[in-house]
Amino acid sequence: MWSKVAKKIADHTNMPFELARDESLSGGCINDARRLIGSCGTSYFAKSNSTDFLKLFQAEACALDEIYETNTIRVPKSICSGTEANRSFLVLEFIESGSGSAESQRKMGSALASLHLIKKNHFGWIRDNAIGATPQPNPNSDDWPSFYRDYRLRHQLNLAEQRGRSFQGSEALLEKVPQFFNDYEPFPSILHGDLWGGNASCDTSGNPFVFDPATYYGDRETDLAFTYMFGGFSKEFHEAYNAKFPLDAGFKIRKTLYNLYHELNHFNLFGGGYAASAQASIDHLLSSSK
Ligand code: ADP
Repeated sequence: MWSKVAKKIADHTNMPFELARDESLSGGCINDARRLIGSCGTSYFAKSNSTDFLKLFQAEACALDEIYETNTIRVPKSICSGTEANRSFLVLEFIESGSGSAESQRKMGSALASLHLIKKNHFGWIRDNAIGATPQPNPNSDDWPSFYRDYRLRHQLNLAEQRGRSFQGSEALLEKVPQFFNDYEPFPSILHGDLWGGNASCDTSGNPFVFDPATYYGDRETDLAFTYMFGGFSKEFHEAYNAKFPLDAGFKIRKTLYNLYHELNHFNLFGGGYAASAQASIDHLLSSSK
């Protein structure tokens, strides 16, 4: 399959590319990831999965193109996607990872704030995509609290229900969602959408880049909240972000509201202890004075 993909890379880049070898890469959650190494020494990053993943790869390429064009936070350039030998694939620029520093974190925080400062004119996105392997609906909307309630929380709660798991107080929480926005009106920012530490890195010069987005237009606090869930972002990252685009005081409680989406999604994808985390967040949100 990969030598055929190599031909497509050559077609799309208008540069000769003959596959010398490919190396399997670890670190991803969903797809087979590899480095395609050409006889000329150039490398590309490629991921593959069953053919039904093609539309997700196309959505990922679309998100990478959109972020790339903002010239704010670095993402790999998308090269091509398609199907070959009964598999779907996505090829990107290969970015060699290096070790990061406090300065790398500062640059990442500042670059993310620059991305978030770009105002779009509606919530949602140009197409539906996925968060991990879970479908993520992105209809256009002018009403963020309703969008977040219906297409993020209710959507994941429904999926959990289909797995036979319900959460105590979830209906009451859905009703309460608008209260978290009584004195806060976010504008639609371009989001990375899946910004955990495993989707952010530095190149060999220490310059940050992010990858594997689940982009849509939404409240920038959702990206910030997720950076806290699994770690990997230092205080320099947060200081630099805040210096460019200060956070609202209500972020403290909305952080829990926003990470609930990811806790539910992780439960839907992986099961296990994420159900208890989601329930604890629901309890906390219901008991908060907001
Ligand atoms: P998945 O969609 O399965 O979650 P990822 O997009 O996270 O896969 O990629 C898997 C791993 O490959 C990442 O953890 C990262 O280390 C590496 N990687 C991702 N994108 C690139 C890239 N453009 N260049 C080099 N390595 C990459």
